[in-house]
Amino acid sequence: MDFEDDLPDFSLICPECGVDNPSDSINCLVCDKNLEKTVAFMEDDSFDLELTSELLIEYRKNFWGTRRTGKVNQYVRGQMENLEFGEKISRFKFDYHGKRVVIPLRTENIEKLKLLLLK
Ligand SMILES: [Zn+2]
Repeated sequence: MDFEDDLPDFSLICPECGVDNPSDSINCLVCDKNLEKTVAFMEDDSFDLELTSELLIEYRKNFWGTRRTGKVNQYVRGQMENLEFGEKISRFKFDYHGKRVVIPLRTENIEKLKLLLLK
């Protein structure tokens, strides 16, 4: 017998609490965050990044990247301008309300964001 097919696919990481949820979840099993709007979730060294249809959300982590500090930055996607994806030095940069925002990211996350934001 093959049990594999009956197991739910826990591949949706909740951006709020980090728990794996079944991929078709509407709300997180643990913290009840609405997961329907989440387009992508990326773990990085100093941040966890969530991309929704409207927002880029940055969950700041401590120096060691082991836990979140509770500081959260949200950027409205429609207000992010002059997007730039650094290649030699992996930085994601954009203008936001007249200020240049620079986010250091792992190369694989830069690539992922580039695909998602430029399409
Ligand atoms: Zn959660």
